[in-house]
Formats: sequence, structure tokens, C-alpha cells
Amino acid sequence: MEVEVIHHDIVLVGGGGAGLRAAIAAVESSPKITVGCISKVYPMRSHTVSAEGGAAGVARDDDNFDLHAYDTLKGSDFLADQDVVETFVEAAPRELTQLEHWGCPWSREPDGRVAVRAFGGMSTKRTWFAADKTGFHMLHALFQTSMKYDRIQRLDESYVTRLLVDGGQVRGVAALDIRTGKMRAVLGRSVILCTGGAGRIFPFTTNAAIKSGDGMSLAYRAGVGLKDMEFVQYHPTGLPGTGILITEASRGEGGYLFNSEGERFLQNYVPNKMELGPRDMLSRAIIQEFDGGRGFEGTYGKYVHLDLRHLGEKVIDKKLPFVRELARNYVGIDPVYEPIPVRPVVHYMMGGVDTDIDGATNLAGLYAAGETASVSINGANRLGSNSLTECLVFGARAGEHAAKFAAGTSDGNEAALIEQAKAEAARVETLRNKKGGEKIAQLRREMNSAMESGCGVFREESSMESTFKTITELKGRFADIGLEDSSQVFNTELIAAFELGNMLDVAETVALAALHRKESRGAHTRTDYTSRNDTDFLKHSVIRFAPDGPKLDYKPVTITRWQPEERKY
Ligand SMILES: Cc1cc2nc3c(=O)[nH]c(=O)nc-3n(C[C@H](O)[C@H](O)[C@H](O)COP(=O)(O)OP(=O)(O)OC[C@H]3O[C@@H](n4cnc5c(N)ncnc54)[C@H](O)[C@@H]3O)c2cc1C
Repeated sequence: MEVEVIHHDIVLVGGGGAGLRAAIAAVESSPKITVGCISKVYPMRSHTVSAEGGAAGVARDDDNFDLHAYDTLKGSDFLADQDVVETFVEAAPRELTQLEHWGCPWSREPDGRVAVRAFGGMSTKRTWFAADKTGFHMLHALFQTSMKYDRIQRLDESYVTRLLVDGGQVRGVAALDIRTGKMRAVLGRSVILCTGGAGRIFPFTTNAAIKSGDGMSLAYRAGVGLKDMEFVQYHPTGLPGTGILITEASRGEGGYLFNSEGERFLQNYVPNKMELGPRDMLSRAIIQEFDGGRGFEGTYGKYVHLDLRHLGEKVIDKKLPFVRELARNYVGIDPVYEPIPVRPVVHYMMGGVDTDIDGATNLAGLYAAGETASVSINGANRLGSNSLTECLVFGARAGEHAAKFAAGTSDGNEAALIEQAKAEAARVETLRNKKGGEKIAQLRREMNSAMESGCGVFREESSMESTFKTITELKGRFADIGLEDSSQVFNTELIAAFELGNMLDVAETVALAALHRKESRGAHTRTDYTSRNDTDFLKHSVIRFAPDGPKLDYKPVTITRWQPEERKY
């Protein structure tokens, strides 16, 4: 099989917030370096574009770095690495200000200062926002800035299927041009993965269809560990049916949650924070209300009410215009006059590719940042609005360090790399023409329902065990899939097949890590081990690929100045 060969200094996979920030940092760190930026969708369609609420960073006199660090650590149920969190909070305001200079239109106070809003689990207002279309504006500012540099060369609508590794070092990727069906070997001296999350392993999620954990699987298959995979964030307020997110900013601006008895039920769970409690606790509270018979019943199951009416039309239109638009279009409700039906929905992966503070992995030359990585600021539960900032801070660090690495290493054995890419092209060809008996949609459905039943908001041994078993079986059946479309041009079925394979890898690690964490911490809540157990489990899980099944290990959490304490709000 022939492949086209392209050379860059750095190969970047992902054109979302983390990816574009990494690309800019890399070219700004050195006057010559070139970056090949590969994305399976046009960059502005990356999931970052749909972020609504905002990005966290200390902005006011009543706030400081230690407080942001403490909130983040407490939110993480003390599983975040404290050195990483300290670096994160210090860099955050710098990055957000930089973004303003690149054209991000942060909303303003009447006195001209950048406006900040309250967010769940944060002690004070520190979430910068651009109305409730923050991700759109941030990604736009990054995208336009990236276009200033002709040394950032894009390969849009190309799908990376494999990392090319030679002599213990990553040296490029094999990528399928979705538009033509041709394969390329994109070679470089370092590779950065900024491929986003994997919410699509679950049936009911706020995540875009493209969030299939590709980068996690690519790294995993190349021998890199996946860290803290058991921690999956449910967002408390998604729309029933579609899973579309109603941003936390709606509670940050003062919205209330009511059960079917007209009670602001959070007073029984997080009395000091109420609607601004952290996401794991609010999601659990809502499920407990459902179980206690205090939910509303609808076509798509149970829900509670998010009430914004008291905010008034003016505030809603100024601060939450998108919430009004989504509620009107997707549930036929105008939040100015009626409460919005909401329920918990899978939103974010705390776990991901195990990296150090610079985004480096244990595979020489391989870096990762953004939601696909676990640099460890989120631990067992992420605070809302930390993730967009994480993409900036650690995207930039990964870009700089990957550039440094690329400058200090030699080219690999090109012939061997091209051979690998050719073998990969043959594998793609085989899959394209595969006529087995299993259907992609059926396997995906079964994976989704297994994940929901075993690894949902509340978990217990037997259902997690059966989820793990089901996923292993599905991986076996995946070997016998059949495609109906064997065409070259825009073969979306072929992409769906690759994505399913990646999701099965990710799902298996989530189930395995969850099964073995015999405690409740952050988003991992077990009905059979109800309390946190620091003696045995104040440690990160790390799972590595092996041909005979995933291997689970642990590594210590870095503690600098904050001793773990009971998490109460
Ligand atoms: C609806 C919604 C609202 C949110 N709101 C907020 C918020 O208000 N504040 C906050 O902090 N966080 C929010 N989040 C979380 C946050 O937006 C994401 O975690 C973050 O944007 C992820 O950015 P990323 O760059 O890591 O990945 P993404 O933006 O998902 O980008 C991934 C990129 O990788 C590319 N890619 C993936 N796989 C491949 C492959 N195999 N080959 C080639 N390219 C590939 C894609 O094309 C894409 O360009 C929200 C998330 C959602 C879903």
C-alpha cells in the first residue's frame, strides 16, 4: 500500500482548545519550528466550541492562588497532584489575559473590568465568560491566532489511526484523509495528542459525537498508561432526551433546582453551597430525589426543575442567551416563564493519558494535553470552568516542551516508519472491506448500556463486574464487524468503526479501574464502599495495555501543602 509522506518538526493531533494553544506555543517558542496540525473535523467544530459557562482564573482582590488551588483540590477529593494544581492556578490569569489580547471578547462589568461569575465548588467569583458562548469565542480567538503562522500547517478532516514508534520513541502518526481515503505518514520528532474526551462511551451525554477517546486509545496501544479512568463526571443539568447541556452558569447566575414537591432539595445535601455545590454531589442528590419518588416523570424518564424565572428576562438575555435558545428549541420551554426540565448526564472524563506537569508521557517524544490527558488537576472530580483553562495552561506547556524535545533529538529511521505506515494502510484497507456479521451500531448500543448500568452515578461490585465482562466480550465481537460502505471518499462508517474500537478500549479501562477502587471518592460513588479510604486508595490508578488484557497499577498522589480532609460543603 502506498502512503504519502509529510514531514514536520511536531505532529499535533487535535484542533480544539488544547491543540491550537499547543500549536501557537510551539511556533512561538522557536522561530523555525513547524507544526502539522491534524484534526478529524474542521478545527472550529471541535467540542471546545460548545463550552458555554466559562474559564476559571483568579481575577479579583478577594481571591488568590491558594484559594483557587484549595477549591480545586477539595473538588478533586484530594486526588489531584498539588504541584500541578499550584502551577495551574498561577498560570491561569496570564493565559486568560493573553486570550483577550488575541481577541477573545470577555464579558465586562459596567466599570470596564472583565466580568467573573460564580461556579460550582468555587469559593468566590472567578469564572471568566463571554456570555454563555465562552468556548466558541475562545476557540475563535485561538483559531484566528493560529492562522497568523504559516508554520502551523493544517490537515483538516484527517483521522489518525496509529502512532508510529521506532527505537522506543514516537516519530509520527498514520492518518487517513477522510476526503479522499488516502493514507499519510505524518512524521515528526515529537507528537502531541489533544484529542479531547470520551463521553460517548455512555449513552446519555453532553459530548459531541466525535468524543470517542481516540487519543487515549492511541497512546494506550503504544504502551502509555491511562490514569484515573474510573472518574467520570456527570453534569447535574442536561436536557432529558438529547443530553444537551444547560450550563452551570445558569446556577452561577442564581438559578434554583426544585424537586416535584416544590422543595429546593439541595438544602438536604449541600446546605452551604446549595445550587453551587460540586457536580458529583449535585448529580448524586438528584438521583436520590428520583429514588425517593420526588422527581417529575416525563417521556424521557425522571427529571427535576431548573428555575431561572426570578432572574428576569433582561438578565437571562444578557448573561444566558444560549440557555434560552436551547430550552426553546429542544424542549419547547421559555425559561423566562417556565422552569427547565433537567437530569444528570455524562459530561467529562477526569482520567486520561498519564502525563507529567509538562505534558510528557512515558513514551519518549509523546505529549498530551486537554481533556484527553490526565495531568492531574481534576483528580476524582473536576470543578466546572477549570477545564477550558486547563486546555490553555497545559496545552501551552505541552507545545513548548514538545518543541524543546523536537529540537534536541534526531530524525528516526524513516524507512522503518514508512513501512509501519504502509502496514497501517493495509489494516485500514482490510477494515474498509470487512464483511463480518457484527454491526457497529449494535455493539455501540450494547457498550453504552453496559457502561450506564455498571459505571453510572452509583456503582457496586456485581454490576461493575458484569460491565467489565460485557466490554471484554464486545471487544471479541468487534473483531467480526462488517461494513456496508467500502467507498474511499468520506467513508464515515469506516471512521465510526475506528471510533468504536477506541471507545471499547477506553470503556474497558473505566470499568476495570472502577471495579478495583473499593472506596467512594469524588465522582466514583460505590454503594458497597460508601466512604473515602485514604489509607488504601489515596493513589492514582494507571492502566496499561497488554495483549492478554489491561494491567492495573497505582502511583502516588503528590501532596505539597494541603493535607486531605473530609469533603463537606
Ligand atoms: C457542552 C459542553 C460544555 C462545556 N462547558 C465548559 C465550560 O463552560 N467550562 C469549562 O471549563 N469546560 C467546559 N466543558 C469541557 C471543555 O469544553 C472540554 O473539556 C475542552 O473543551 C476539551 O478541549 P480539547 O482541546 O481537549 O478537546 P476538543 O475540543 O474535544 O478537541 C479535540 C480535537 O481532537 C481532534 N481529534 C480527536 N480524535 C482525532 C483523531 N483520531 N484524528 C484526528 N483528530 C482527532 C478533533 O478533531 C478535535 O479537533 C464543556 C464540555 C461540553 C461537552
